[in-house]
Amino acid sequence: MPKKIIAANWKMNLLKSEANSLFNDLKNGLSPDNDINVIIFPPSIYLSEILEVNKSTFHIGAQNFHFEEKGAFTGEISAQQVKDLGCSYVLVGHSERREVFGETDDALLKKIKAALQAGLNVIYCIGESLGEREEGKHKEKIQSQIELLSSFNESELSKISIAYEPIWAIGTGITATPIQAEEMHAFIREVLLNLFSDKSAEKMSILYGGSCNENNAVELFKCSNIDGGLIGGASLKSKSFSQIVYSFE
Ligand code: PEP
Repeated sequence: MPKKIIAANWKMNLLKSEANSLFNDLKNGLSPDNDINVIIFPPSIYLSEILEVNKSTFHIGAQNFHFEEKGAFTGEISAQQVKDLGCSYVLVGHSERREVFGETDDALLKKIKAALQAGLNVIYCIGESLGEREEGKHKEKIQSQIELLSSFNESELSKISIAYEPIWAIGTGITATPIQAEEMHAFIREVLLNLFSDKSAEKMSILYGGSCNENNAVELFKCSNIDGGLIGGASLKSKSFSQIVYSFE
């Protein structure tokens, strides 16, 4: 069975006091079932502080890092530094990193390798644009994004989860319907089964992301190939995020 995961991507939001207060509300108010992994991705500048007060079972992760180990890369942080701080997860391939910051497949592959090398778990984000969906090219796009993982072995794959995030649904308030989402998740599982051993493919968690909120989470999480969610906007309010986590139980 794939792990159940609900992840909060706070993106570049919240001032320090707001981030601390949101984290404390979650720490004190949210008690997920043992089989649900909750991961919080705060802005990197708050990671240390949050890791220090994290007495909960939440996993903490970095939204971004550089693939090089160390050196003259002003402004960057490495996977090793993220791990050394106490993080257990990183996000790779978010459409905002691909589109706004021009991260290429080559860079994404290097990032996944660096993260695994450092002992981190990876949430690898994939998703098609509206144009690609309208042209009927969404499955082709998803397949090629998954193929980026082809060179990884069973033990490496056990540390990778996929987040299917249709770009047209991210931050737009337009959610994929449960039927649309499940169709794509089932397709992703099929691609994984064709590429990897049954064990690796069946165990890999596939999260849905894209305007998932407390009102649509129950229906989405009922789908048999949806193993959780990557939540942006709705993760910035403790009540909404908690309700999303409980939608999965
Ligand atoms: C995201 O950015 O990963 C995301 C899913 O955002 P939102 O929930 O706001 O659409």
